[in-house]
Formats: sequence, structure tokens, C-alpha cells
Amino acid sequence: MIIGLTAEHLAMWDAWYFAMIPALSQDSTALTNYSHIDLHSHSNVSDGLFTPAELVQHAAAQGLKVLALTDHDDVAGLDEARQAAESHGVQLINGVEISVTWRRRTLHIVGLRIDPDYSPLAAGLQQIRAGRRTRAEGMAASLQKAGIEGSLEGAYRFARKGIISRTHFARFLMEQGYASDMRKVFKRYLVKGKPGYFEHQWASLEDAVGWIISSGGTAVIAHPGRYELGRPSMLELMEEFRALGGKAIEVVTGSHTVDQYQEFARIAKLFGLQVSQGSDYHGQGLSYMEMGRLPALPAGCVPVWQDWPAIEARQE
Ligand code: AMP
Ligand code: MN
Ligand code: MN
Ligand code: MN
Repeated sequence: MIIGLTAEHLAMWDAWYFAMIPALSQDSTALTNYSHIDLHSHSNVSDGLFTPAELVQHAAAQGLKVLALTDHDDVAGLDEARQAAESHGVQLINGVEISVTWRRRTLHIVGLRIDPDYSPLAAGLQQIRAGRRTRAEGMAASLQKAGIEGSLEGAYRFARKGIISRTHFARFLMEQGYASDMRKVFKRYLVKGKPGYFEHQWASLEDAVGWIISSGGTAVIAHPGRYELGRPSMLELMEEFRALGGKAIEVVTGSHTVDQYQEFARIAKLFGLQVSQGSDYHGQGLSYMEMGRLPALPAGCVPVWQDWPAIEARQE
């Protein structure tokens, strides 16, 4: 166990989980509505369906006022998104979602208000993208062994704009009739133990958080509920992330259940972390949640945007 994680933390955790102490109010009627703010989304620079401009247009049509574009390991969509945002009256936040390997697991760290031109960040992302190409070759070779030909070219046909990801392989496999929806194609082909999975080493947590912070941005743990970390590891991740200068965790996200909103609101409070929210929108059929529909943050959360200028809550 790492230093700083006390027996008191563990005891508090146990109290929440096993005695179910209502640490936070469930009453959402008194809460401020922030559904016009979305701090996690993807364009076709990574694995989303829309171009950056189309994404912003869609966001505006869904009533969003503040949008972070957070493509995986790439910032190439931000200029186009910013131009579109200006014409649609949307405030664009410069973002990125960095792939990280921590204790042999993949985590995603979102950077908000980053400087995309800051060279250590740009160089780090470039290195991750190069790793993605090598990994894609490994995935294709492995799929070929399982009798699936042409997946590298097939996946790249869906990925012309920027990075290559498992989502592009998924789209190729669906096109070829190997599965009928995303969930199935991932489960059968693209997760650990399946033919298209290829172990890969991403950036370290320290590097990813360091690049974000030193570029002037805020580091946020994306969808912590998705990592299937055991209880001690989850707490140690929070502790380590905070020690590295990490500021916030996503609480309300398209990737969490309603119970997980409460769970991670409590964890944020325990560790003195701020809270972020985002749909993780990728496009029709690729997302769990539409833009502009985020429910309210649980009571007691400190929003990550609380000291950002010019972001105002819209009371409803
Ligand atoms: P990669 O970064 O190349 O490993 O691809 C990860 C992306 O695949 C995520 O950002 C999601 O967009 C998508 N993804 C991962 N798991 C699933 C799943 N079970 N169902 C649908 N999409 C998934
Ligand atoms: Mn994705
Ligand atoms: Mn993610
Ligand atoms: Mn994402």
C-alpha cells in the first residue's frame, strides 16, 4: 500500500459500501443543472463518426454551450472545432484523452484546457500514435491467424483522419458480418483473450499527467468505473494521481451507471478531487449517451470548471 492511504480511508470506504451511509444527498431538485457542459467527446480524428466541425454543430443543436473535444491521443481536430464553435456560440475547451498503462491496465486520462502546441505534450502524443500503428499491425496479424484477412487495410479505411483504434477494427469486422453491433464485436474479438486483442504498453501515468499539467491543463481520470480495479487499487490510483498533480475524476459520464455517479462522487470527496462530466460521445450507434442529456452532479461535488472564467451554470 502506498504512503498516504490510511486505514481511515479504508474504513470510510467500508462504511460506504457495507453500511451504505448516505454521505451525499440524493435530492437533485436543489441542484444546479449543468447539462449544457460536456467535457468529453470524440471526432473522427480519433474514433468518433463526425468531423470536428460536425461534432460542434451537433453539440450546439443539442443545446450545449461548453464542449471539450477530447480525441484519443490526438489534438489535430481542435483548430477546426474552434472555428466551428465560434460560429455556433459554443465555448470550445482544448482537450485530449491520453491512453495510459498503469499496473498493466489501460487507463484514460483526460486533459482539459491543454496547450496543444506545447512540445512535450505534442511529442508524447506523437509517440503514442506511432505505438498505435505498431499495435494495429499486431492486431491484424493476430486476426489473420484466426482466419480474418485484410483487417489492417480494412480498419484504416475507417481511420483516415488520424489515429487507428480498436473502434476502427470493430467497424471493419461489423462491415464484414463478423458481428452485428459494437458490444458484440468487442466481446468476441477485441478484448483480452480474444483473437484481435494485442497487448500494448501506453504512456505512464506520470508522463501523461505531467504533459497535461506542464502544458497548462487540468488532468482528469476518465470514467474510473470502467477499469474494474479492486478496491485497494482504485484508492491507490486516486492517491497516486493526486500526488502527481491530478485534479479531478469523471463522475457523470456515459460510461457510468447511476450508482457509479454516487460511488465516484464519494471517492472524489474523500480524496479532495474535483469532479468532471462528459457524454464521451462518439456518434450515433457508438455512444451510450447523446450529447446535452447529462444528469445533474451529485450533491457535494466540486465541479472542475469552478474556477474557470466565463463558465456559468444555467439554472433550470
Ligand atoms: P483503443 O484505444 O484503440 O483501445 O480503443 C478504445 C475505444 O474502443 C474506446 O475509446 C471506446 O470508444 C471503444 N470501446 C472500448 N470497449 C468497447 C465496448 N465494449 N463496446 C464499444 N466500444 C468500446
Ligand atoms: Mn473511443
Ligand atoms: Mn475512454
Ligand atoms: Mn473517450
